[in-house]
Amino acid sequence: MPAREASLGTGHAVLLNQWYETMHAYIMKKYSAGGYLPASFLDWDGHVSAVLFTSGCNFRCPWCHNSELVLGKTEMIDLDFIVDDICKRKKFLDGVVLTGGEPCLWEGLFDFLRIMRELKISVKLDTNGSMPDVLLKVLKEGLADYVAMDVKAPLERAALKRVTGVDADPENISRSIDIIKKLLSAYEFRSTFICGLLTIEDMAKIRKELDDDAHWIIQAFRPVNCLDPGYCKLPAVDPEKLRAEFPGIRVRG
Ligand code: SF4
Repeated sequence: MPAREASLGTGHAVLLNQWYETMHAYIMKKYSAGGYLPASFLDWDGHVSAVLFTSGCNFRCPWCHNSELVLGKTEMIDLDFIVDDICKRKKFLDGVVLTGGEPCLWEGLFDFLRIMRELKISVKLDTNGSMPDVLLKVLKEGLADYVAMDVKAPLERAALKRVTGVDADPENISRSIDIIKKLLSAYEFRSTFICGLLTIEDMAKIRKELDDDAHWIIQAFRPVNCLDPGYCKLPAVDPEKLRAEFPGIRVRG
């Protein structure tokens, strides 16, 4: 920590650094994660990132591909191991992706993000947008560089319930959208098109509600490892069809 060393004698700086390391170790030992990928090229466009998966989610999207994480069935990994690994490989990484499950539910969220800030590591946060107050606090503290928020359905109770499997509050989703637009320049809103749950008209409604084509990404559903096994029998969505329906919008698939 050069700034501290410059203003303190070397002995004091060493003691202070040891104290910081002890504090970090103490904080990190309190938490664990549901999964960890040391390096990914897929989870943050244009970035080589380490990916931390939090366990648990307040939604039950029947088509969810992370069912083990959502249901808390993965083997937990100590956070101090993950942070140690990120530190060791920091110079090979462009950043860290915090995903889930739903990271805004995770008790270690703020401690982890603050430590990433101290280490000067960029963070992408994935969220389902159901916890606007947590998101607001994260962004007001400047703890995330990029946010990817799922906008799963038009902002209506019935549509959200159909797609998320729970009684999600449209007002919370709407607030999260506004918070992200207001406080960040680097973000994306993602909507997954699933046959049988959403129609092309629903997608057009989401587009209108977001009114932000430059940051909206459509994802084509793949019938793989779904929370509700019945969804594994649905046909995969053809991304080309979505591109034809929504020219000018990015489609992942
Ligand atoms: S897809 Fe739905 S259930 Fe799965 S992690 Fe995301 S919000 Fe949770």
